[in-house]
Amino acid sequence: MAKLKVRLYVDHPLGAGQSVPLGRGQAHYLFSVMRLGPGAELLIFNGCEGEFLARVARAGKRSGELVCRHRTRPLQVPPDLWLLFAPIRKARTDFIVEKATELGAARIVPVQTAFTNAGRIRRERLQAHAIEAAEQCGGTFVPEVTELQDLGHLLDGWPAGRGLMFCDEDLAGGGEDAPKEDALKDAVPGPWAILIGPEGGFAPAERARIRALPQARAVSLGPRILRADTAAVAAMTLWQLRLGDWRCGEGG
Ligand code: SAH
Repeated sequence: MAKLKVRLYVDHPLGAGQSVPLGRGQAHYLFSVMRLGPGAELLIFNGCEGEFLARVARAGKRSGELVCRHRTRPLQVPPDLWLLFAPIRKARTDFIVEKATELGAARIVPVQTAFTNAGRIRRERLQAHAIEAAEQCGGTFVPEVTELQDLGHLLDGWPAGRGLMFCDEDLAGGGEDAPKEDALKDAVPGPWAILIGPEGGFAPAERARIRALPQARAVSLGPRILRADTAAVAAMTLWQLRLGDWRCGEGG
């Protein structure tokens, strides 16, 4: 059998025999762009019930219908990791949302910090990027992208049991503040968040406040200053390997 290539996120309950109506955008994508016709098979997921094999029952210009056959994969939820980042220019913010979804974030939280350049975000657009990334990377879960939140407010109500991996550019380089030991040495898996600052970095008062939070660990991402989008990818990689659901293959 030919490999099924098309994967589609649908905001609809799934189950064997379940009919799934398609909206205009989905019909256009499946029938005009991907050229699927009645009887064609594809994979669909809704972010909470796993992935199903589905068949095209009706293919119209502006609408259509799929019918679920059987479940092909169960829901695979990522570790309870939030990615907090200060939005930057549009294309780089899109990149962060896409990569955070691929790398396994449970929640994506744009934050307003002292030096955040962007005063607002288009949440719906960023959420669509997360959905597209999940479709493309074979994920069955779509992280929620929240509205822009004020970092100060978030810190005020920071959950007692959630660790905060604070990526602090002041720890880059070989200065006095350079880390002497591994900041995540005795960290344990569980609810966590990663915090990445904006292009301008963190303000001194902000930095002091974050560091004062008992749940916070100030972490270095190496001796070079990374751009925020690179830092987000590097931090998630580090966290997933140390505390998340990645296992390096042992080969053989
Ligand atoms: N303009 C700042 C750099 C900001 S980089 C300066 O020159 O100091 C954007 C964000 O990426 C930072 O706020 C931090 O969260 C993260 N980051 C970049 N490089 C880092 C490093 N080497 N260690 C820890 N965090 C880093």
